[in-house]
Amino acid sequence: MASETYESPWTNDGVDLFRKTVRQFIDREFVPRQGRWREQHHADPEAWPLAGNIGMLLPDVPQEYGGGGGTFAHEAVVLEELARAGVHFASSIQSIVAHYILAYCTEEQKRKWLPLMARGELSSAIAMTEPAAGSDLQGIKTVARREGDHYVINGSKTFITNGLRAGLVCLAAKTDPKTTGPKGTSLILVETQDLPGYRVGRPLEKVGRHGQDTVELFFDNVRVPASHLVGGTEGMGSFQMMEQLVYERLSVGVAAVAAMEKAVDITTRYVKERIAFGKPLIEFQNTRMKLAECRTEAYIGRIFLDDCIERFLKGRLTPTAVAMAKYWLTDREFHVVDECVQLHGGYGYMSEYPIARMWADSRVQRIYAGTNEIMKELIAWAQ
Ligand SMILES: Cc1cc2nc3c(=O)[nH]c(=O)nc-3n(C[C@H](O)[C@H](O)[C@H](O)COP(=O)(O)OP(=O)(O)OC[C@H]3O[C@@H](n4cnc5c(N)ncnc54)[C@H](O)[C@@H]3O)c2cc1C
Repeated sequence: MASETYESPWTNDGVDLFRKTVRQFIDREFVPRQGRWREQHHADPEAWPLAGNIGMLLPDVPQEYGGGGGTFAHEAVVLEELARAGVHFASSIQSIVAHYILAYCTEEQKRKWLPLMARGELSSAIAMTEPAAGSDLQGIKTVARREGDHYVINGSKTFITNGLRAGLVCLAAKTDPKTTGPKGTSLILVETQDLPGYRVGRPLEKVGRHGQDTVELFFDNVRVPASHLVGGTEGMGSFQMMEQLVYERLSVGVAAVAAMEKAVDITTRYVKERIAFGKPLIEFQNTRMKLAECRTEAYIGRIFLDDCIERFLKGRLTPTAVAMAKYWLTDREFHVVDECVQLHGGYGYMSEYPIARMWADSRVQRIYAGTNEIMKELIAWAQ
């Protein structure tokens, strides 16, 4: 993203052109629908093929699999533009699942699922968390038992983003329930359409991010072909998740910085317009001090994030560095957005004001994709 004095090193003419297309599309097609999506707690199903049409889905997946053929820079653009417009749309989940497929699935599976996902004809979810196991993923109870050419799956998942209509679920399950360590867990891709024993709960009532659904999933003797085991070898799930969580956590960081920048922008405009004691709020020294702090934190966040993106593009972003980014950027996001709410006074607490919605939206960033406490554990134990 660019500002008056700074331009991200990972942008170029092609990426800028892609941003223009994505921005125009979001403003035209998604912004007018946001109110309804927030009320119904999910995006319209038609939104997926529309997004697929303009190349907003799987922008960093090779073209031979139907993707945009770009890099993480293109994915970052989509995340930034959604944040800029205040639109909830789970395209990042689609990208996360696509990268599991790209990294570990067979050629045949890549050619079957990725083009459908890129066109928005198949939407997806990643299902790790369970009612009794979130941070402690080794404690999951969902079991996939091998029976001939199939796995028989029993268990439940909770807090699953985009699960409502996901036709493909990347599921974490125990293939060896007796093994307590990471080797007992595998990932299995579940095609959910008309699948006996598979059930989706109602969208959960969240504090924020109302425009995208978060649901419970239930598996009751669900039969899935054994060939849908991700990577083809049992017990690799925890290692695959550790590898792919780098992508997911970097995506969370991108959204965090975009939110900070937007919060500072809209608050700067607001304090110039709002009058108190006969003068604009910006005339009060405290307002200027707070704004200066927020703008500085957003700027430091941007530089740190851009360094992480550059490293990722070169294949050199470590799990420890991305844990630092996920923890620090989302902590700062919530702090900056909270300060900006304060500068809006009572209007900052009214849902019709973007800053109020951003406050509710930003809270969960410190919780999902691994809580910030778990990020600090990873950082502290690193060599
Ligand atoms: C809106 C939303 C969307 C989500 N989307 C998805 C999704 O798409 N797919 C999916 O699989 N999951 C999803 N999640 C789940 C999310 O990843 C978990 O909520 C998160 O990992 C925390 O797990 P938990 O809720 O069970 O909390 P717990 O693990 O019970 O943690 C509770 C508290 O204890 C702390 N804690 C736990 N263990 C330790 C430790 N070892 N050291 C220090 N502190 C610790 C945590 O940091 C936290 O503060 C989503 C959650 C939300 C709220």
